[in-house]
Amino acid sequence: MIQYRTPDITIFESALYRTTSTVIQTGGIILIVDPNWLPAEVARIRQFVVEKRAGRPLYLLFTHSDYDHILGWQAFPEARVIASTAFVENPEKGKCLEQARQFDEEFYIRRDYPLGYPGVDIEINEDEQIVELEGARLRFFLAPGHTADGLFTLVENTGTWIVGDYLSNIEFPFINHSNFAYEQSMQKALHVIREYEPGLLISGHGDATAAKAEMLQRYNESLEYLYQLRLAVQSGEPFPEEELWKRYGNKRGLALPHRENMEFVRKELKGL
Ligand SMILES: [Zn+2]
Repeated sequence: MIQYRTPDITIFESALYRTTSTVIQTGGIILIVDPNWLPAEVARIRQFVVEKRAGRPLYLLFTHSDYDHILGWQAFPEARVIASTAFVENPEKGKCLEQARQFDEEFYIRRDYPLGYPGVDIEINEDEQIVELEGARLRFFLAPGHTADGLFTLVENTGTWIVGDYLSNIEFPFINHSNFAYEQSMQKALHVIREYEPGLLISGHGDATAAKAEMLQRYNESLEYLYQLRLAVQSGEPFPEEELWKRYGNKRGLALPHRENMEFVRKELKGL
């Protein structure tokens, strides 16, 4: 389904995990972000892009390497790919691809394009890196923590801020790389909110928001969750889970990621 639409920005939302795929049109390019999940959903995004293209070059941005975000790569073979250097150097490429294959085989999914780990044409390796593409100006920030290879992208022409799997209104932080790096990435997020005042925040799962107050609230909630995790792990006191389910819902789905976060942070704080 289409979650959000203006003449320049279209956010497609998958039926699975409310994962977003964004298409941004500027005068000179079309930027497609994380086209995902199901074949009919990817086909719809592809059809939309074909209809709107009008000869413009296509760019594909991958916010990070989690398999759900990369499995639509080869549906856009003519697109040039943008991702972080950490994405390119990901030592677990094979694992990402294996998870995508596992998903497709588990649900007997047939795609009319092959799965693969994306090749990258434009690498991002530093904060505030600017890439100009036919008049479109993209500003990047490295955002490790959820994974090692996350990116924040500001599309300056449209005031759009694409954050990948951070600052979601339906998921607390999922920490698969480092809770310390995660905290630093949240400080970068605060910097972006204050310095660049994005007009629209698009997260990888759930609703986009145009409200600065909500961007700040999500930032605060993310940090609070991190601090509560550390406190629970260090003190041995139980995590105040009821608040979590009241805030995020989907308890049956989110209970496991929460337990995995506890275990991850326990190991990380012990230096394991
Ligand atoms: Zn992810």
